[in-house]
Amino acid sequence: LLQLTRKLIEIRSVLLSVDQSEALKLPSIVVIGSQSSGKSSVLEAIVGHEFLPKGDNMVTRRPIELTLINTPPSAASSSSTPAEYGVFPNMPGMGKITSFATIQKTLTDLNLSVPPELAVSDDPIHLQIHSPHVPDLTLIDLPGYIQISSMDQPEELKDKISGLCDKYIREPNIILAVCAADVDLANSPALRASRRVDPLGTRTIGVVTKMDLVKPEHGATIVRGERYPLHLGYVGVVCKAPPTSGVFKSIRGDRESPNVTGAVLRREEEFFGGENSKYFGRDKKVMVGTDTLRRRLMDVLETSMSSSLHGITNAVQLELEEASYQFKVQYNDRRITSESYMAETIDALKARFKEYTAQFTKPAVRSKLKEMLDDKVMNILEKLYWDDPRTIELTKLAEDRKLTSEDLDSYWKYKLETASSLLTKSGVGRDSTGLVAEGLRQLIDSIATGEPFTFHPSVSERITEFSHAILRERMGLTADQVENCIKPYKYEVEVDEREWNVGRDRAEDKFTEEIKRCDYKLKEIQNRLGGSRKLNGLIKHVGELEKWEEERRKRRFSVSGASGQDGDEVVEEGAPVLDAYKYSPAQIIDGRHALLLSNRLSLLKLRQQALKSRRCRSGPDQSAFCPEAFLAVVADKLAYTSTMFINIELLEQFFYQFPREIDSRILYDLNREEIARFARENPKIKQHLDLQERKDKLESVMRSLQSLVNLQKDAKGSSTGT
Ligand code: GDP
Repeated sequence: LLQLTRKLIEIRSVLLSVDQSEALKLPSIVVIGSQSSGKSSVLEAIVGHEFLPKGDNMVTRRPIELTLINTPPSAASSSSTPAEYGVFPNMPGMGKITSFATIQKTLTDLNLSVPPELAVSDDPIHLQIHSPHVPDLTLIDLPGYIQISSMDQPEELKDKISGLCDKYIREPNIILAVCAADVDLANSPALRASRRVDPLGTRTIGVVTKMDLVKPEHGATIVRGERYPLHLGYVGVVCKAPPTSGVFKSIRGDRESPNVTGAVLRREEEFFGGENSKYFGRDKKVMVGTDTLRRRLMDVLETSMSSSLHGITNAVQLELEEASYQFKVQYNDRRITSESYMAETIDALKARFKEYTAQFTKPAVRSKLKEMLDDKVMNILEKLYWDDPRTIELTKLAEDRKLTSEDLDSYWKYKLETASSLLTKSGVGRDSTGLVAEGLRQLIDSIATGEPFTFHPSVSERITEFSHAILRERMGLTADQVENCIKPYKYEVEVDEREWNVGRDRAEDKFTEEIKRCDYKLKEIQNRLGGSRKLNGLIKHVGELEKWEEERRKRRFSVSGASGQDGDEVVEEGAPVLDAYKYSPAQIIDGRHALLLSNRLSLLKLRQQALKSRRCRSGPDQSAFCPEAFLAVVADKLAYTSTMFINIELLEQFFYQFPREIDSRILYDLNREEIARFARENPKIKQHLDLQERKDKLESVMRSLQSLVNLQKDAKGSSTGT
């Protein structure tokens, strides 16, 4: 009337999802018996369908936790939900299964998934059956006890099975000990196991199967249970499955198993009624028949549940208090959801992105590009001027006050044009866009691989993936655009007074830097050698050596040119080779390097002087005399123009698109489950959510329990009152 069992069964499944601790377990009926004692037949008679795995080889390898839920027939017929169906709660993908053949097949597969070397596993299979024909019960089917060990069922398997059964037959569970009538009860492993844990037989029900295989008077004696009394008694049944349903038929699923209840009931009616009613009639006070068994089980479970109510309420109360305390201490009662964590993470990501984009203001980008272009300028100067011995001559020419730019040798004018076009045609569009895009890529990658994305590899991958895609898409466009816009500079660069002065100043700075660099390198060599005197000596030596080498090359060329063959090595007179003992090969290499550096230094200093000269200061019409200043101005113009277009075509687009892509590709693209999974990837969040969920579940269970306790009180009150 109170539907106590039903409500507690619901509570039981919630508690199971909270944790499996013993204190939180509500009583369940555990079915034990030896193999072939008729265990499956009894369970199937209760459920009304064939659904358990069948076969020669031991087929129950895992406990099957079976929850039967009675559905009112009216509710089933009025709605679209099927009348009878099974659910595997741990396999939500399977949904409601209306075919018992499918359930049987699934159970078989789940059992066979236990590796043969393990043989049995204590990881239970959960199965719910909803039907108007089942009582509210929780039953646990366990592997049958092995009587005789055989080749493929070794001795240790016997122990494993009884160990597994022992775990389940503890209090407060009710033991359903299945024994076949045609086997002496003294040999029943089920009764033996039950007696070990329940010596007074207060929570054991005996089921005597195969009553049809013994003489009715003998069967009645067994069921009366005089030899091995059980407080809850024995129920005798006949539930051999009707011969039409072959053992494997339903596994193959080619025919739906018939409803077995009707057939069983008819057989039992036949067997226990008629002639045999003189042994089994009502007045004989023996419990027989599957129907009686069902009612008995419901009564016993209800009683057991009801007496567990207080204990379980107290246990849940304690668990709840602990969970609430932890939640307060650890999280100050702050509630979170997967969605809120997701939203916070995305907000933080966007905020960090915004913060970092400050590195990409126009002046910042311009100065990066200038750096890159200045490098290009220095390379061009090196190639065209510093390596050209006539550059010294240009410096001297500049000192001649009377000489004007127009008088200057066309050699120098041409050189300047070459230098300028080398710079403007060096792929500025590609290089400058590439530089900025690379900066953006590094920025995104650093955000996407930093906390908390270390916990979220797949989302992190998504972020880098789509941002790289945006960059790839924008890069080509931007590079072309930039290249297009600097096109005029490839033909002509106009320079005004102000630009000239700025460019000249920068060129001077660059030279100072370059001179410092060379000085530093030279110092390094000097330190290795031990002093400036030694360095000068070495430079002088290498100088002579190189001069001699040069002469020898020339001579050789003329000799071999004349005779057409190489002459023998001859040590010429005056060769500095004599000094070979003075310097090691490594020092000679250093020396050659030092000679280069010192030549470079004197040239750089010369050109620095030229940059400072009155001629260079006087203005842009002196460009041919001061290519360094001119190129600095060109570099500046290129940087300015590139920045402008990179800003419009790449940066602004990226800054606009990135946050929107985050929303559409992450925030709105993930479904609830994915968001939940995402949140739980972060161990801190997982802990928080787990505790919160546990507390919530315990609270709801506590509310249900409390109302049951109240109902029970009221029921008692009214029953004692009347
Ligand atoms: P389990 O191994 O304990 O699950 O036993 P089963 O339920 O598979 O039954 C073993 C065999 O006994 C099967 O061949 C059943 O058909 C048969 N059997 C089960 N119950 C009865 C019964 O009440 N009477 C008779 N004659 N045979 C039965």
